[in-house]
Amino acid sequence: MTRRIAVIPGDGIGIEVTREATALLEALKRRARLPVEVVEFDWGAEKYLREGVSLPSGALRMLEREFDAIFIGALGDPRVPSNQHAADILLGIRFGLDLYVNQRPVKLLEAKLCPLKSRSEKDVNFVIFRENTEGPYVGIGGIFKPGTAGEVAVQEDLNTRKGVERILVYAFEYAQKQGLKRVCMSDKSNALRFGHGLWQSVYGEVRQRYPAIESRHLYIDTLAMEMVRDPGQFDVIVTSNMLGDIISDLGAQLQGGIGLAPSANLHPGRVSMFETVHGSAPQIAGKNIANPMAALLTAGLMLDRLGFSNIGMEIERVVAEALRQDCVTPDLGGTRSTTGVGGWIRERVLQSLQPTQVM
Ligand code: ATP
Repeated sequence: MTRRIAVIPGDGIGIEVTREATALLEALKRRARLPVEVVEFDWGAEKYLREGVSLPSGALRMLEREFDAIFIGALGDPRVPSNQHAADILLGIRFGLDLYVNQRPVKLLEAKLCPLKSRSEKDVNFVIFRENTEGPYVGIGGIFKPGTAGEVAVQEDLNTRKGVERILVYAFEYAQKQGLKRVCMSDKSNALRFGHGLWQSVYGEVRQRYPAIESRHLYIDTLAMEMVRDPGQFDVIVTSNMLGDIISDLGAQLQGGIGLAPSANLHPGRVSMFETVHGSAPQIAGKNIANPMAALLTAGLMLDRLGFSNIGMEIERVVAEALRQDCVTPDLGGTRSTTGVGGWIRERVLQSLQPTQVM
């Protein structure tokens, strides 16, 4: 069955790196008979400035009804200082489709890129699951006496039993299915006694359903230290929205930088959204120097999820090969262009796949 993929290149380097990801998908379709159909949408700053439209009305239902996956490059443009269009599109899809799992694999593909001393690929290989629909990012709050010396800002941290339970269950289920032994739940319940106290009590219940999994709890500050001191101790980390946002950027650096970090926004049984962890990086946009590897690895994660795990693995293997051979863009110390690296990886992925391997 053909998988339909909605592609939103977005803004800035999002457009350039997505071009490499779609070129790979189109080439896989043409030359390796990968059953995918790619449909592009021009949602982003340009459309917003031209037409005042960010996420068109009816878009969510259309995505749900007609697509198997959504691929996003990056959103953000200095001409829209409020970033309103980015919030409408990204958060609109995340919240609107209730994509409550943010999956961020942290995998070092080439040891020389790790900023830690004497670490090899086996030392940095874990997955962060970040709750994606709650926490302080829901936008509940307000400002009292704005612009005065007595200004007061309130930002609520929303945590629900349902929301906490489903992300914890997802993380434990993932560990069980992948044969991973260790799950670490992290919060700041020593200071946030109500909101994160709920994480503690739900975690206490959920972990008992998975006796074969070694589960433990770390406060987020300890987790940050431990991720740097000994990243090899983790298989699966699960945490709340804001804390997950922060530690997944720490994770991105452990794997060699933000230009190498893919992510997925999931809700089992629904259309999922795949995006690079990096933003639109306006200062390097249009120069053909953005690193396309995060976008290609994101495409791999998406294909894995769509049932083509052999291709996902192959993309990862070829990206690792490119890193080993220093076929990289300037952010990783190389001299190659976005299109140069994208083309190099595309050709090698295609060479290694026979048409029959895809099906
Ligand atoms: P946002 O605020 O949406 O996160 P941003 O582009 O300012 O957007 P990041 O994506 O976190 O922030 O990137 C920070 C910096 O890292 C960029 O300004 C850019 O210099 C660099 N960077 C990010 N992604 C890439 C990439 N794919 N290739 C090369 N450099 C990158």
